[in-house]
Amino acid sequence: WTEGTVADAENSLTELAALAETAGSQVLEGLIQRRTRPDPATYIGRGKVDDLGAVVLSTGADTVICDGELSPSQLRNLEQRTKVKVVDRTALILDIFAQHAKSKEGKAQVELAQLQYLLPRLRGWGETLSRQTGGSGRGGGAGGGVGVRGPGETKLETDRRRIRHRISRLRREIKSMKTVRVTKRARRSRNSVPAVAIAGYTNAGKSSLLNRLTGAGVLVENALFATLDPTTRKATTSDGRLYTLSDTVGFVRHLPHQIVEAFRSTLEEVAEADLVVHVVDGTHPDPEEQVRAVHAVLAEVSADRLPELLVVNKTDAADEDTLLRLKRLWPDAIFVSAYSGRGMDELRVAIEERLPSPAVEVRAVLP
Ligand code: GDP
Repeated sequence: WTEGTVADAENSLTELAALAETAGSQVLEGLIQRRTRPDPATYIGRGKVDDLGAVVLSTGADTVICDGELSPSQLRNLEQRTKVKVVDRTALILDIFAQHAKSKEGKAQVELAQLQYLLPRLRGWGETLSRQTGGSGRGGGAGGGVGVRGPGETKLETDRRRIRHRISRLRREIKSMKTVRVTKRARRSRNSVPAVAIAGYTNAGKSSLLNRLTGAGVLVENALFATLDPTTRKATTSDGRLYTLSDTVGFVRHLPHQIVEAFRSTLEEVAEADLVVHVVDGTHPDPEEQVRAVHAVLAEVSADRLPELLVVNKTDAADEDTLLRLKRLWPDAIFVSAYSGRGMDELRVAIEERLPSPAVEVRAVLP
């Protein structure tokens, strides 16, 4: 569910399809419905659920992915009516994050986010289970019979307790990993090495730019969320000053709050930077919306007051009209192509100009 025009919904759905493909799915068909608000019981309108059921049958799809966050009961109702697995945007994004997390910290952060998502949804899951296992004849009704629910509830409570336990343990672990990082960072700042954070919507070309700027071999994938674990590389200015460049988590519209929460410590690292290089995909149909989404996430971790250098990437593939429009919209932005190298020298200079000047030792001379 997206606020705005049908074109906004189409963009959002195209992105959802790309996300699903990143997660390894094959996308068969898209369905859009105009509504003022989601249906409380079935998310899409009840009539539209029949259309959806027909599409599922005719395409042989085994999963329905909804572009929004479904309540536990909406999810359950849709699964019952379509007879296939239903996944919402949040679960899909969590799944991709889980596939891409590589560092110990990244993995712990994803698991924390997944468990937080799962906890309030456990009831639906438990009910489905007890309905399936409760073959006593009484358990056929909605919610299972009295006799079926009893043991199910107990099991549910144990599961919940176990999950809460795991959540607090993960929180502790993430906290201690953060301490290590903070210490490293403190050492860097004592040596007054300026830090530049590369932020930007997912797939904008952050990793490619980092590679161009530093010659580092960072994985570049045409997949959303190739970057999960922050990579920090050293770079030097033309007059030989050292600074660091870090690639950050890919941002996406409606980033699930569980993700923002779990990745807070990684995202907060951006807030410690001296400069944010904000990369925008010049070939995207709605770059302004992407910029807004990134700003919203930066604001959540109080990184919105840092100096920002806007960089429009992929100028080799963007159309001229769009580039002219973006130049008028963002007169201070630097236009580059990580592919062809166009604009890279200008970008290096722009970064250097914005770095804090080298620390000057000040000594008080007392009379
Ligand atoms: P990230 O998710 O922001 O780190 O983006 P990546 O650096 O992984 O790049 C995402 C996709 O965009 C990849 O398929 C890149 O090959 C492609 N890409 C990156 N820079 C450019 C560019 O300057 N021009 C074009 N045409 N494609 C690019």
